[in-house]
Amino acid sequence: MAHLPSIVVLATGGTIAGAGEAPSGPSYRSAALGIEELLTAVPQARELADLTGEQIAQVGSQDLTPRHWLTLARRVRDRLDRGAEGIIVTHGTDTLEETAFFLDLVVDRPQPVVLTGAMRPATGLSADGPRNLLDAVRVARDPAASGRGVLVVLDETVHTARAVTKTNTSSVSTFRSPLFGAAGAIVGGRTVFFRAPAPRPAPLLSDLEGTSDLPRVDVLYATAGMAADQVECSLDHGAQGLVLAGVGNGNAPRPVVEALSRAAQRGIPIVRSTRAASGFVARDIEIDDTAQGFIAAGALGPAKARVLLMTALVETSDPKELQERFFAEQVA
Ligand code: GLU
Repeated sequence: MAHLPSIVVLATGGTIAGAGEAPSGPSYRSAALGIEELLTAVPQARELADLTGEQIAQVGSQDLTPRHWLTLARRVRDRLDRGAEGIIVTHGTDTLEETAFFLDLVVDRPQPVVLTGAMRPATGLSADGPRNLLDAVRVARDPAASGRGVLVVLDETVHTARAVTKTNTSSVSTFRSPLFGAAGAIVGGRTVFFRAPAPRPAPLLSDLEGTSDLPRVDVLYATAGMAADQVECSLDHGAQGLVLAGVGNGNAPRPVVEALSRAAQRGIPIVRSTRAASGFVARDIEIDDTAQGFIAAGALGPAKARVLLMTALVETSDPKELQERFFAEQVA
């Protein structure tokens, strides 16, 4: 019999493990089914890989925390170092992009790491989970998936963790890479990659084993007339860095920019991202980042900018070093 690659499936819950009362009804409970039930629904996957399932958490992804990310990252590294040829993480879709990006920042192994989920519960009509899981196995066993960082596979499409975001509350085609485009597709049971792997900066968190939590970073959502005291409120409650989900090119009302500037002068890293659905936030265009001591988020939206800042802050709060790291994430 041909060698089947050994792939470990780490399950965390989400709709892919969801169960409803009636197949066509709208309501369901996420994270109801265990990993063995998910694997049983896709017998074809066992023809492609030697699969081992492991339950890491059993929650909707809105309840995952940086502590879960750290546990997951350690488990991914451990399984890869002990011989797994690929890893799949099943995950709720709501914060899937945050976990994927965190793993992308800290796990530097050549074997593919693939996250997948589902928009319809496992008991629903036309459940998308089994197909997504099978496609994730196809990608995780593909040598061409190596060296691309963490990948996200749903709806017959492959995305890089850096580029992907959830764009729709209910559509099965919710995951998109608005700025860079998808990395590939699953066509006729095969993975097709659209371009060569992008360069990858050095991994963060050299002491992954010894890190038990990440520093608090808050995201402030900019609006016309927003209250500037949100800045002090966050800092008073222990935030060690702030991300502005700014308007346009990472902008905000003048009193907010002034409050952020005062925080930056006190050594609090301030990252300007955007609430716009797509686009780069560049330095020194409308706002003088050099004078204010701000960091421009480049290609990263607010949720991912927060993940990067929390992770990088464990090792540095130097705005220059942080800026370099944010710009190193501008390719996907
Ligand atoms: N809110 C749940 C979660 O993110 C269900 C949504 C989903 O998985 O699509 O886990």
